[in-house]
Amino acid sequence: MTYHAFTEADAIAYAKKKGLFPEAAQVDSREIGDGNLNLVFHLTDRDTGKSVIFKQALPYAKVVGESWPLTLDRARIESEALIIQGKLCPGLVPEVYANEPELALTVMEDLSDHVIMRKGLIERTHYPKFADDISTFLARTLFFTSDLGMNQQDKKLQQGRFINPELCKITEDLIFDDPYTDSPNNSFDEHLRAEVEALWRDEQLHFEVAILREGFLTRTQALLHGDLHTGSIFVKPDSTKVIDPEFAYYGPMGFDVGAVIANLLLNYAGQEHWSRTAEERADYRAYLLETIEQIWTGFEAKFRALWNEHGVDRMSRTPGYQDYYMKRLLQDTIGYAGCKMIRRVHGLAHVADIDRIEDPAVRKRAQVIALTIGSALVKGNRSAESIRFVIDEAVKGA
Ligand code: ADP
Ligand code: MG
Ligand code: MG
Ligand code: MG
Repeated sequence: MTYHAFTEADAIAYAKKKGLFPEAAQVDSREIGDGNLNLVFHLTDRDTGKSVIFKQALPYAKVVGESWPLTLDRARIESEALIIQGKLCPGLVPEVYANEPELALTVMEDLSDHVIMRKGLIERTHYPKFADDISTFLARTLFFTSDLGMNQQDKKLQQGRFINPELCKITEDLIFDDPYTDSPNNSFDEHLRAEVEALWRDEQLHFEVAILREGFLTRTQALLHGDLHTGSIFVKPDSTKVIDPEFAYYGPMGFDVGAVIANLLLNYAGQEHWSRTAEERADYRAYLLETIEQIWTGFEAKFRALWNEHGVDRMSRTPGYQDYYMKRLLQDTIGYAGCKMIRRVHGLAHVADIDRIEDPAVRKRAQVIALTIGSALVKGNRSAESIRFVIDEAVKGA
């Protein structure tokens, strides 16, 4: 079938043709996509209640419009990444029922009983299982797709299926370039101009971003999710599901770990508004910082255990090398976390945790907190010795 963007009715017809629902079934179809790039259809059989999700890529970025063409191949990358992640981390990603590269379509498990984590955090929900689940996801996906956990020739061949130049360029520009100059892609409140202009002039910051950007461009450590913010994570108190890996490519591991931490810290900044009292704010912020610490310590422990048990080569067992590797990974995590925070304040795409704060004075306080913490993480990344550095800078920044 040649590519065409589905309507809600097309999705039903296709689902029936593929035998997902009986021909006579009464199927409801709703387009529920809230993302920037794709269509997402929720299909339900009115009688049996059976439901599935169709995700279809559009040949352009929905957020900008048809003037920004974007490859449909990202749907193949997303399906293949979900399948790899599902094998490595059963239960932590939606099950893929089918994919149709020509239609840029993935048919997957309906996770509507979960909530998008960004929304849950805005409502100050606690997720007791999250740190354990996400550290497992990170440790297993990053270790087993790297040269530490995978045959190195197989890894190079796998890399070839995840080059993803167009999606990488979005990251290279929107995260590692535009926020540091007066780019037309930026968008920010006029009340933030002085802070943003100071950042445009901050050469120490630019120097660190240039190093981190080089890492994103040149290091092929592991198959990354590539867009692991809290809008790409579905949660319930007892369940975690990672979605939306269309940015997957071989890159530096710290980029994924840092993305999770950055988005928890953006919510931490946003609690300036979402908490109703000082006590609530202190409590929820303490919970977020505790979660960040547990994610890193859990990740590090699991990654080292996988390495000790499943490491594939002799040289990687050289005494001292694992400690060196983990320290560098921590530092990358901190640097990328900082970059991911900064770009969400005044770059092209913002986060609801901060943008939806209506009172401009409070919104500005949250924006300044995010920029302050983000800059401190970027500038300090190469001298950080432990995850305490992040916690300390977060406390200072608020
Ligand atoms: P985009 O790449 O456009 O950001 P996402 O994969 O993040 O698309 O999906 C956008 C939205 O669609 C999600 O925030 C969620 O509300 C809904 N969605 C996506 N996948 C599922 C799923 N498997 N089950 C239920 N809802 C989903
Ligand atoms: Mg609709
Ligand atoms: Mg998304
Ligand atoms: Mg996406």
